[in-house]
Amino acid sequence: MAELLSLGEARARVFESVTPLPAESVEVNEAGGRVVAEDAVATVDLPPFPSSAMDGFAVRSADTPGLLPVVASIAAGVPAPRALEPGEAMAIATGGVVPAGADAVIPIEYVVNYENDVEIADPVVEGENVRPRGGDVLAGSVVVQQGIRLGPAQIAALAAVGLSEVRVARRPRVAILATGTELGRPGEPLRPGQIYEANSALLATALSTVGAEVEVLAAIRDDPVAHRDALEHGLAADVLVSSGGVSVGPHDLVRSALAELGVAEIFWGVAVKPGKPLAFGVRGATLVFGLPGNPVSTLVGCELFVRPAVLALQGSSVPGPIYHEGRLATAVKRNVQRDEFLRARTQATDDGVVLEPVAGQESHMIARAAGADALIFAPRGEGELPEGGRVRYLLLA
Ligand code: AMP
Ligand code: MG
Repeated sequence: MAELLSLGEARARVFESVTPLPAESVEVNEAGGRVVAEDAVATVDLPPFPSSAMDGFAVRSADTPGLLPVVASIAAGVPAPRALEPGEAMAIATGGVVPAGADAVIPIEYVVNYENDVEIADPVVEGENVRPRGGDVLAGSVVVQQGIRLGPAQIAALAAVGLSEVRVARRPRVAILATGTELGRPGEPLRPGQIYEANSALLATALSTVGAEVEVLAAIRDDPVAHRDALEHGLAADVLVSSGGVSVGPHDLVRSALAELGVAEIFWGVAVKPGKPLAFGVRGATLVFGLPGNPVSTLVGCELFVRPAVLALQGSSVPGPIYHEGRLATAVKRNVQRDEFLRARTQATDDGVVLEPVAGQESHMIARAAGADALIFAPRGEGELPEGGRVRYLLLA
């Protein structure tokens, strides 16, 4: 590891290696979390007709104030029976079609309603409580742009403009492989020298929530043949993520096995803590991440590199991660060589978010990390970041 790449440079190299995946059509109802591949265009004006924002009476503003005969009642979901003539009112429900000739709706709370007439004491302003046709979006306009990840509001907007299908990027197929002879399976008794394997579950959880179709391979021993077989299988995916075995020890076999399989290494070693010996390469269009095995290193490497790459493959305009701003509850010593990500708890105060680093910041301490909901970004440098000082942080999903 001659020279460590800066975090920014390393991330730039990953993004440069991404070829966006092709698009496919999926049902809007099933498209939550997917990234829009082609601008989605409204098929109708929304609202499709001038509609009432209130339960009340449709009137001509020029006829108010006044005592007006109520000539019809318009429920939601039916056409207006006829145009409103001067001097008339029609009862109307929220969402009802405002009849031609009417230019305002007076809410039921503001009138005196006699058997056949309605008394309006004050002048009604033209346009009041009428939602104009196309006031939200016009037919032919873009309702959700390419690159946007579909959340509840976007899904509802697609449905509201009449779309039942949407073009989204194909799901990236992600193969996950944990390496290490010491790894035991949760649920089975540990043998002497073993620890439980945690990284597959971490990666599967983190990546399936950003649209990946995850295949978790069986964890392998530190054996060259096992490495070649499993990594070769994983290379059929769009993204292969391994954990462990990328450091400099005699049992760290991932990089040499990848090289033998024709993976071109793009970098190894990033100036970040934890997670320094992270390796990245490509074979064809497949992105290959070799994350160091300490679970907190895997967590940080996944947040900074793998999740963003999975989103970039889907054409996301915001692959992230997204930094927020907060203040430190306690001073933090900086690392001279490497940008550091400290596990912390957020606390919302009147004066913004305050971040308290959790006790136990070593890269094997995943149980301590489980008590955190954020990663404080402590840029490399001399000295310390003072108590109360402004810092940037990432929210942990
Ligand atoms: P390595 O990157 O292979 O040198 O592993 C670094 C440390 O992380 C070692 O203590 C490993 O036992 C541990 N480790 C590696 N892989 C995993 C895993 N999948 N789950 C939990 N700990 C791991
Ligand atoms: Mg290992």
